[in-house]
Amino acid sequence: MTGTSNFVFDSRLPRVVFRPGSLRQVGQEIELLGARRALVLCTPEQRASAEAVRDAIGARCAGIFDRAVMHVPIETARSARALASELGADCAIAIGGGSTTGLGKAIALESALPILAIPTTYAGSEMTPIYGITEGGIKKTGRDARVLPRTVIYDPELTLSLPVGLSVTSGINAIAHAAEGLYAQDANPIMSLLAEEGIRALADGLVRIVADPADIAARSDALYGAWLCGTVLGSVGMALHHKLCHTVGGSFNLPHAETHTAILPHALAYNAAAAPQAMQRIARALGADDAARGMAALARRLGAPLALRELGMREEDLDRCAALATENAYWNPRPVELAAIRGLLDDAWHGRVPGA
Ligand code: NAD
Repeated sequence: MTGTSNFVFDSRLPRVVFRPGSLRQVGQEIELLGARRALVLCTPEQRASAEAVRDAIGARCAGIFDRAVMHVPIETARSARALASELGADCAIAIGGGSTTGLGKAIALESALPILAIPTTYAGSEMTPIYGITEGGIKKTGRDARVLPRTVIYDPELTLSLPVGLSVTSGINAIAHAAEGLYAQDANPIMSLLAEEGIRALADGLVRIVADPADIAARSDALYGAWLCGTVLGSVGMALHHKLCHTVGGSFNLPHAETHTAILPHALAYNAAAAPQAMQRIARALGADDAARGMAALARRLGAPLALRELGMREEDLDRCAALATENAYWNPRPVELAAIRGLLDDAWHGRVPGA
């Protein structure tokens, strides 16, 4: 049973500075960490943002490593770690989305360098002790307190350049974390409050961002929601939706973020009867009568993909996908059964109205 009468609350959270223009404060935050020389991490596309950090911190910048990529290949992590030690860096600043934060985490895992994260998407990795590293084509994930960033700077101005498509997919990815957090086995009242508010703020912010990507108030609301949803992901366990996305994305090479938008409404429909209180809160956060249909309506309104077939999944792979997703037992509010999961995947493949 989960809810307000049976729970354990045990959370470690980073220091958070949330303020437009707070990029200029990075130097002070490095000092508060007791550090002097920062290695700045970014993707090749975000080199200019890393240079803005360098300009803001002056002599405290040890160098820039601009080779962060999706899924954190072990070779990239090793190169970044080697550069950090060669330059005598005593902290790392990760400016970017989940891929760059993930690189920072891979460095921290082995070097114990403190990480200061400056997120520029809504994925929420900066608030979690979860890391992923890809070695020999296989992504290993784990939880380790050492990888949790020590400080997070949220500056909504940095998200103005995030294209609408990426804003929507990283935002729905974050909403999925909060939605599953509401029916997690280890749910607790504080994280449930954050989850509901996070879904509300992100859903509302994303609708306004689609209407006007330069709306700084909408960007700020979405980033606030991202913070809350990321906090939930870092604190409670995930279930069916994440398992399915991992299987579909990993084994059939589908785009990770878009897969979330197509699966989430159907995962919610699958769990609806087994987690009625969570569904009520998700529906309320979305301003809808029903959580699953409200989620599908939001995705449609945001122009996000709703069918796995649009993402390149082949119909003949659905049987194997259902088998893979049910071969290992994991916790979910409703038992995970092969025939029912095959039905869920069929609905998600066609992009049908969930729960109809
Ligand atoms: P991303 O970090 O992969 O970034 C996608 C692209 O957007 C990159 O090219 C990046 O440079 C660019 N970009 C980022 N911010 C930008 C901005 N403001 N303006 C212009 N371009 C910008 O995307 P993501 O969705 O943040 O992260 C996805 C990855 O994060 C996945 O690998 C996922 O597994 C991981 N993730 C991990 C956790 C965790 O807790 N470990 C949580 C969520 C996501």
